[in-house]
Amino acid sequence: MRFHAALIVLLIARTAVAQESRPPESRSASAFDSAAVAKIIDEGTNRSHVMEILSWLTDVCGGRLTASPGYKKAVEWTRTTMKEWGLANAHTENWGPWGRGWAIRRYAAQVIEPVPFPLISYPKAWSPGTSGTLRGEAVYMEAKTDSALETFRGKLKGKLVLMDEPRQLKPHFEPDASRLADSSLLQLANADLDRPRRRGRPNFPSDFRRLMALENKKLKFCIEEGAAALLSVSRGDDGTVFVQSASIPTDQNIQRDKRAHVYDKNSPEILPQIVLSAEHYNRILRILSKGLKVKLELNLDVEETREDSVANVIAELPGTDLKDEVVMIGGHLDSWHTGTGATDDGTGVAVCMEAMRILKTLGLKPRRTIRIGLWAAEEQGLLGSKAYVQRHFGERKAAADSAEPKTILKPEAEKFCVYFNHDNGTGKVRGIYMQGYETLRPLFRSWFAPFRGMGASTVTPVNTGGTDHLSFNDIGLPGFQFIQDEIDYDSRTWHSNMDVYDRAQEDDLKEAAAVMAAFAYNAAMRDDKFPRKGQ
Ligand SMILES: [Zn+2]
Repeated sequence: MRFHAALIVLLIARTAVAQESRPPESRSASAFDSAAVAKIIDEGTNRSHVMEILSWLTDVCGGRLTASPGYKKAVEWTRTTMKEWGLANAHTENWGPWGRGWAIRRYAAQVIEPVPFPLISYPKAWSPGTSGTLRGEAVYMEAKTDSALETFRGKLKGKLVLMDEPRQLKPHFEPDASRLADSSLLQLANADLDRPRRRGRPNFPSDFRRLMALENKKLKFCIEEGAAALLSVSRGDDGTVFVQSASIPTDQNIQRDKRAHVYDKNSPEILPQIVLSAEHYNRILRILSKGLKVKLELNLDVEETREDSVANVIAELPGTDLKDEVVMIGGHLDSWHTGTGATDDGTGVAVCMEAMRILKTLGLKPRRTIRIGLWAAEEQGLLGSKAYVQRHFGERKAAADSAEPKTILKPEAEKFCVYFNHDNGTGKVRGIYMQGYETLRPLFRSWFAPFRGMGASTVTPVNTGGTDHLSFNDIGLPGFQFIQDEIDYDSRTWHSNMDVYDRAQEDDLKEAAAVMAAFAYNAAMRDDKFPRKGQ
C-alpha cells in the first residue's frame, strides 16, 4: 500500500519542519547503516526461515499453554535451534512459583438424544477431566438474580449445566481482515494525545461487577449441587470457539492481584468447564425450549503435572565495543490451548527468532549485544517478562514515604538500551507506538525510511498496551510495540481454535522480521543509548 500523493507531501513537510528545528548533532544521531539494512531486507525477503520456524512452533510443538508439555517442547526447540544457529548464551531462565502443567490427552463431546450430533467445543484450560465417559442431561440454568438461582436447588445433580443465555448471530458484513487505511495511519501519526489505543474487543457492560459476582455464585452453586459439568457459549461464530482459563470460585472482596489462580498448585476443586460454538450451544437451547430432554456425552482426559517454575528463553548476538550494553527484542512463547498459538504469539516468536537468524547469518557485528527474550505466561498477565525485568532491571516497590510505589533499578538497568516487542498477530507492520517517548519521533521516522515502500512508516504518539513491552515501561525503560494491520485477529484467531499456521501471512511476516532486525541493529549501532522518559 502506498500513501496518497497529497499525504506524502504532507508527511514530507512535517518531517522537513522537524529536521529544520533540530540541532546538527541530533541529525547524525538519526543516521543508520543503510547498506546493512539493505542486506537485512535482502536476507529476510529472499532467504526467509520465518514460516518454517512458525511451522515447528505451531504444527510440531502445538498449543503452548504455560507449563504444558507443548510449552516445554517449544522452550527446548527454540533454545536448541538458536544455539544451532550459532547464537551465544542460548539458555532458559526459570521463574516461579507456578503450580500446574495441563494438557488435553483426548476429548470428545456429543449430543446423543434426541438426535445425535458431535459438538464443536473445547475444554477451558486447567479444567479437570471427566474420569471416563460422562453421560447426562442438559439443564439450562437461566438465572439473572440470586432468587432465580435458588429455583435450581436440588435439580442439578449429575447434570450438564448450560450457564449462558443464547447468543443471537448476525450475518457478517465486516471483513475478518483489513489493512489500515492511509487515513487511519495519518490520524495515528497526527494524534496529539498520549492516550491508550483501544482494541476492538468486547465492551464490558455497566453492571459488570454485579454480573461477575452472580457468575461466581452460579459457579459455587453448581459445585455444591453436584452438577457434572458446565457448558458455556463462545463469543464469535462460524464454528470458531474462543477459549481461555477455567473459572474458579473467588472471594470478590479479595484484591484482584491477591486471588488464587486456576493454575496454582492448590487451586480449588472445580467441575469440567466446556465452551461450545455459538451455533451448537443455541441448538441445544432451542431443543430444550420445546420441553424435550437433551442427553450429552462428554469425555475429557487431561494430563496434569506439577510445575514449580516455568522458563523464559534467552539468546544473544554478542556486541563489540559496547558489548555490556543490551538491545532486546521479544514476544511471548506461551499461547492458549485450542489452536496452535500461531498468531498469538507464534508469529511474534518467529519474527524475533528470524530477526536474530538474519543478523547472525549476515555476520553483522553490532556494537551493543542484541538479546532475544521469549516469554512465558504473557496470557496470565505478562508474568514471564515481568519476572525477567524484575530479576535483571528492577521493580516498583511500595514506599514508606509515599502513596505511590517507587521504582528501584538494578545496576543492569544502566546497561539497558531498548526493547522491541512483536505481539499483535500476523498483520503487517505499519509503524510504531511511541509510548510517551516523543523525542524519538525523528529517529524512528528515519529508521522506517527503507520500509516506507512496504507501507511501514507511521510513528504515533498514541500508546498501546496489553503485551510484554509494558513490563519494561513499568519501571521506566523504553519498550515498544509495532503498529500492525488487523488480519483475522480479533475477528477470528485471537485466543481461538482457529489460531493456526494457515492464518499466518508469509509476506507480512518477512517484512516484520526485517523491520525487527533493522531496528535492533540500528539501536545497537548508535552512539547513544535510548533516552529514558523525561530526558
Ligand atoms: Zn493473547
